[in-house]
Amino acid sequence: MDKREFLKTSGALVADGLLQRVAGAQKAAPRTNWAGNLTYGTNDLQTPGTVDEVRATVKSASRLRALGARHSFSSIADSTHEQVSLERLDEMTLDEKARTVTVGGGVKYSQLAPWLDAKGYALHNLASLPGITVAGACATATHGSGLHNGNLATAVAAMELVTADGGVLKLAKGKNGELFLGAVVALGSLGVVTRTTLNVQPTYQVAQSVYQNLSFDELGKHFEEVFASGYSVSVFTDWEHHRATQVWIKRRLAENSANDWQPEFFGAKLATEKLHPLAGHSTESVTEQEGKPGPWYDRLPHFRIGQTPSSGQELQTEYLVPWDRGFEAVLAVEKLHRHVSPLLFVTELRTIAPDRLWMSMAYERPSLAIHFTWKPMWPEVQKVLPMIEEQLRPFAPRPHWGKLFTLPPARLEPCYTQLPQFRALLAHYDPQRKFRNRFVNQSLYAS
Ligand SMILES: Cc1cc2nc3c(=O)[nH]c(=O)nc-3n(C[C@H](O)[C@H](O)[C@H](O)COP(=O)(O)OP(=O)(O)OC[C@H]3O[C@@H](n4cnc5c(N)ncnc54)[C@H](O)[C@@H]3O)c2cc1C
Repeated sequence: MDKREFLKTSGALVADGLLQRVAGAQKAAPRTNWAGNLTYGTNDLQTPGTVDEVRATVKSASRLRALGARHSFSSIADSTHEQVSLERLDEMTLDEKARTVTVGGGVKYSQLAPWLDAKGYALHNLASLPGITVAGACATATHGSGLHNGNLATAVAAMELVTADGGVLKLAKGKNGELFLGAVVALGSLGVVTRTTLNVQPTYQVAQSVYQNLSFDELGKHFEEVFASGYSVSVFTDWEHHRATQVWIKRRLAENSANDWQPEFFGAKLATEKLHPLAGHSTESVTEQEGKPGPWYDRLPHFRIGQTPSSGQELQTEYLVPWDRGFEAVLAVEKLHRHVSPLLFVTELRTIAPDRLWMSMAYERPSLAIHFTWKPMWPEVQKVLPMIEEQLRPFAPRPHWGKLFTLPPARLEPCYTQLPQFRALLAHYDPQRKFRNRFVNQSLYAS
């Protein structure tokens, strides 16, 4: 099935987190998210080219959502009124003295990372793909992996937003205390982010290698050692045969450091050719493996700049659980393998360091992320999600805001102790609820 066909067959189903709505009521050509599982509820897309134009757009709108690179699977970026894309705000400014870079609201990591590297600097981490915007990724607490790596939003040092009244709000870490911690992961609901300032560090090299077939028994016995074996580690499984299919280890190389890879890793075997996490997929899109050193931005993501990541015809779900109960949670999900595996392309396990960003899935909790890349079979997947959520109940799972879940608000609320403060923040800056949409209403206000 090619992408167009997939859009045709799945575009009528809108995964809403909680609800489905039938698409097709569009007047003009339907606009969809990247995966095609969601048809946006409006054709009114504004594309201002300056901060003043963003202010005018926001001021005149009755209801509005910012749109990034359209990579969320949930309806978090959707609107029934207007959307605003900042793709024309693409400036990037490096401040070497402050060790920060400031990017416009439309800049993607795929634009920023090579540019930054060429100037001798790097970010602390990246997601599995670089083609997402900094503003959109930070708004949903998008993450990579690494026991000591916070999500991508933890690199934010300052930000500039246009709030509901058209005013400009500038916030900086340290200067704005709790307000800043509430604003960084704001799910697109506090305002339109026109500039984000990120902490940078000197550029570095990374080498990655892949091991195949790590038994779950060994994974359980050496859980911490496995995830501590690299700067960023991803464990993939199809939930069959009580084993991980692949372990991707990304090592940060210091100058003159050894780059040796043992042929065995807790019984798993070192791959001698490049592998895609999804069996049978071409490896053209995948970043270099086999221990070949390369720049951070071409190794930390699994997928190369400009290439189709993952399958391209897929759905995604992810739950963050407490790291110290991570393997227990893995075994709980494994019990559902007969239901999960037939619908699944692959599961990925990653780690995220805790942070203090109110609405982050890793808020004050070192986390294991259990991710599912599903085949584009929403009616079936929708039935399995509540089963997984029930299995994970003892671990108070926090679903990724940008991916698909069915957890009701009553179960989300206790996971976010700062939710009352976040609601108060939104009420203060957006009393008319200009930036609310159905996803936000259902996820944060329906309980
Ligand atoms: C193939 C694929 C791989 C992925 N891999 C990962 C991964 O490795 N790790 C991970 O954590 N997630 C991953 N994701 C999920 C993805 O990173 C998030 O959904 C992310 O939010 C998408 O960013 P975007 O630029 O596409 O924003 P969108 O999806 O367009 O928007 C996301 C949110 O950001 C808000 N927003 C966007 N721009 C602005 C702005 N200027 N101001 C205010 N709010 C704004 C929107 O309103 C919305 O609420 C993946 C998704 C795909 C499709």
